[in-house]
Amino acid sequence: MTRVFNFSPGPATLPEAVLRQAAEEMLDWHGSGMSVMEMSHRGKEFISIHAEAEALVRELLGVPSNYKVLFMQGGAIGENAIVPMNLIGKTGKADYVVTGDWSKKSAKEAKSYGKVNAAASGEASHFTAIPKQSEWKLDPEASYVHICSNETIGGVQYHWTPDTGAVPLVADMSSDIMSRPIDVSRYGLIYAGAQKNMGPSGLTLVVVRDDLIGHALPICPSAFNYQTQAEADSMYNTPPTYAIYIAGLVFKYIKAQGGLKAMEAHNQAKAAILYDYLDESRFYRSPVAREARSLMNVPFKLKDDALDEAFLKGAQAKGMIQLKGHRSVGGMRASIYNAMPVEGVKALVAYMKEFEAQHG
Ligand code: PMP
Repeated sequence: MTRVFNFSPGPATLPEAVLRQAAEEMLDWHGSGMSVMEMSHRGKEFISIHAEAEALVRELLGVPSNYKVLFMQGGAIGENAIVPMNLIGKTGKADYVVTGDWSKKSAKEAKSYGKVNAAASGEASHFTAIPKQSEWKLDPEASYVHICSNETIGGVQYHWTPDTGAVPLVADMSSDIMSRPIDVSRYGLIYAGAQKNMGPSGLTLVVVRDDLIGHALPICPSAFNYQTQAEADSMYNTPPTYAIYIAGLVFKYIKAQGGLKAMEAHNQAKAAILYDYLDESRFYRSPVAREARSLMNVPFKLKDDALDEAFLKGAQAKGMIQLKGHRSVGGMRASIYNAMPVEGVKALVAYMKEFEAQHG
């Protein structure tokens, strides 16, 4: 068996130890005589899996007791509608800070549910930087301020937490959740699809402050109403049970590695190997402003686009896959989430050097 170095933006590489454990437990989970996939979500076995996963989210992220942890479905694109349906009713309007394709999409979707104010946009810099908070035009009457903490396509990440005063801060953390410590109390709501740093697609994590629950618009479907789900312990409808189980194994793995501080150090070390090389090379370049560079998704360009195909082909031959950049940006993108080992990044840089020597 040979596993590739998978640089996919998501669904993405998972820790091998987690996959092995899941394989071992596939037919008979802890003597239950069944796979987790086959369990009733209301049975004691699954309830213990669910409770442990939630407890680990609370422990790893340091979730204060006045926040609910919800395991939902619909992904982050689902949340683009679910967030405004639940939160925008307070004043009928919300602020959106647009720093790339994903937050742009969030702002567009929210327009169906209320008045959306584009508080700031990085569009002028082609989404290669994050507008300074001093330039944001925040509305004190907004129901919330929405940001995307890490733009998966553009590779632009906040390395600071915006201060929105009494207005709740809402963050799409799909592509950097669990990659570094965060102060949950600075946010009103955090959401993230699981398929980058947490597990398989199909699971959406929502961490929401209690006072933001219970104000959904009447049109909000019950399965997407935070109150209904909070009251039912995320079991109003059948939750994505297998995805929750795998996420629970990933959380245990993160804890065993030393938690989010250790993840951050690991991610900083990996990203530095790649960015240092991009900065010293005259053949490759990073299009992103230094202070906004993502530790998770690293877009880079070759000197000549005409070499892109040969670069990808050569990478594939060496077992490095999914390096093609998003069509809106072009070039390459290496997604180096928690589960990407440092060896993967070293192998990539070694290949990049070799390719530069041949084509530079
Ligand atoms: N937001 C961000 C930051 C993402 O990276 C993605 C997926 N790449 C999405 C939203 C959309 O997620 P989904 O397709 O799971 O709804």
